[in-house]
Amino acid sequence: MSNETTNPCKSCGTPKRFTFTSEIAIRFAGVEGLTEPIVFAFPEMTICLDCGLAEFVIPERELEVLRTETPVEGVAMWLREK
Ligand SMILES: [Zn+2]
Repeated sequence: MSNETTNPCKSCGTPKRFTFTSEIAIRFAGVEGLTEPIVFAFPEMTICLDCGLAEFVIPERELEVLRTETPVEGVAMWLREK
């Protein structure tokens, strides 16, 4: 794999960490979260191939939706009917 990272895993210390592109659907926790919007994010994700620890940063626009629970222009969301 050519996308190997240089820093060792924070959990197990292995150097076998690789960066991938990802698509993540984020919803609010709990049963009540099932009726809240789903926020989609597409961060680069670094995954340890020994222990499975995954690390990524949610982009600022998507973070703003999670903070305010309101739509922000340019953010992919699935708005559920209540
Ligand atoms: Zn690890």
